[in-house]
Amino acid sequence: MAATVIDGKAFAADVRSRVAEHVAGLKSEHGIVPGLAVVLVGEDPASQVYVRNKGKQTVEVGMHSVEHRLDATTSQEDLLALIADLNADPAIHGILCQLPVPDHIDGDTILNAIDPAKDVDGFHISNVGLLGTGQKAMVPCTPLGCLMMLRDHHGALSGLDAVVIGRSNIVGKPMAQLLLGDSCTVTIAHSRTKDLAATVRRADIVVAAVGRPQMVPGDWIKPGATVIDVGINRIDKPEGGTRLVGDVDYDSCAAVAGAITPVPGGVGPMTIACLLANTLTACCRANNLPEPEGLTA
Ligand code: NDP
Repeated sequence: MAATVIDGKAFAADVRSRVAEHVAGLKSEHGIVPGLAVVLVGEDPASQVYVRNKGKQTVEVGMHSVEHRLDATTSQEDLLALIADLNADPAIHGILCQLPVPDHIDGDTILNAIDPAKDVDGFHISNVGLLGTGQKAMVPCTPLGCLMMLRDHHGALSGLDAVVIGRSNIVGKPMAQLLLGDSCTVTIAHSRTKDLAATVRRADIVVAAVGRPQMVPGDWIKPGATVIDVGINRIDKPEGGTRLVGDVDYDSCAAVAGAITPVPGGVGPMTIACLLANTLTACCRANNLPEPEGLTA
């Protein structure tokens, strides 16, 4: 039986409309407008596109959007001064510094300078610790989006075997923590994992966050498993030009899986939707108001 396609584009649109509804309520009932500041250092073309999309979607859900585009030669000191200003700005509830930053700037120093309460990317060491200890944290957007789709598809995840392929700080590790938080039995696989195929074959849930085009073939997938493909890879088309593919071989995996996210149109759209959800959550927490239901971990 063909797998159910988990439509991340439609899911993200639903998340955005729930965020927009909540934002409208905050405005009308409390006179509060959530604000998101995005900081970009340098001219990386992919980052420029991400930042533009983030700003556009922030405005579309009724939030206050601020963009700071800084020259690639900006010093670490000046960037830290900007972050200090944003930390102190009551109109700003979420701050995101687009990665990667230029080599002369230490990314960890910047991420850890953001007020943890405004750290809508969930990368500050305090939020990493809070998530790891099962406390209320700001949760990284991409894994949060994956979790939302998994919960929606499965209902309860308790007791399911989950394999996360990839152990990065921005996707793999927080994804594993979230699945553990939902009582999955979690395995984290990486480049040194012995017999990755056998490890993946045990999983009811496979999350692939590797950065290798179509690396996971269908014969690694347990029949009926749910496959969440985080990868975004550009490959050459035989007829010329390029196309985006994920970390799993979509056609062969979809033939075996119970459900699967496509690339594009799966995890990708959920990431910005969850950034907006996190900004709303941060705003509610800052104002001691109830958090939106179903939009946090
Ligand atoms: P990283 O490069 O930081 O991490 C990749 C991970 O994959 C590492 O842990 C690495 O293991 C592991 N890995 C590499 N090769 C293998 C292999 N042959 N077998 C098993 N594991 C392997 O990548 P990210 O986590 O940042 O991103 C992963 C993918 O997700 C990329 O394609 C990226 O573009 C995409 N992405 C998509 C987002 C979205 O919004 N949809 C957001 C963020 C990322 P080791 O640690 O041992 O080196």
